[in-house]
Amino acid sequence: MSHEGIRIATREETAKEAEAERPLPRIAITPEKVRVLLTEGKGLEIDWVDGHRSAWSFVWLRNGCPCATCIEERKTEGRKAGQPKAKPAELLPMYSPPVKPASAQAVGRYALQFNWLDGHSAGIYSWEYLRRSCQCRECTFAAAETIGTPN
Ligand SMILES: [Zn+2]
Ligand SMILES: [Zn+2]
Repeated sequence: MSHEGIRIATREETAKEAEAERPLPRIAITPEKVRVLLTEGKGLEIDWVDGHRSAWSFVWLRNGCPCATCIEERKTEGRKAGQPKAKPAELLPMYSPPVKPASAQAVGRYALQFNWLDGHSAGIYSWEYLRRSCQCRECTFAAAETIGTPN
């Protein structure tokens, strides 16, 4: 019997989860300006009504795809949103296309959807999901502070 499935949450993790459930103010999840930097291949930038500017790389977004299949896959592999898959050791390096979308479109007034070059497009990135996973320097630093450094 493997005990891999058993996970004991540390106090920090519990605090972080509680933080994630706290509702965000409307101005924090209402975008003022959305820039999908397709041509540059850089990623997504959003200016929120509360004045915060968020940024994500396309690689992060693809690895943080919020569709049911990707969430399940990450759970199975023990990856966090945005964390890339472990690369299998290969004798010959395989060609991998750049991680970026061919296009992106708004979904109603609440989300964004990407049509990734690898053919995947099931993920609906809600403003709330994006804001909660803001990858700007300030937010990633703050997150690292709260959860501490692993190992
Ligand atoms: Zn997905
Ligand atoms: Zn941020």
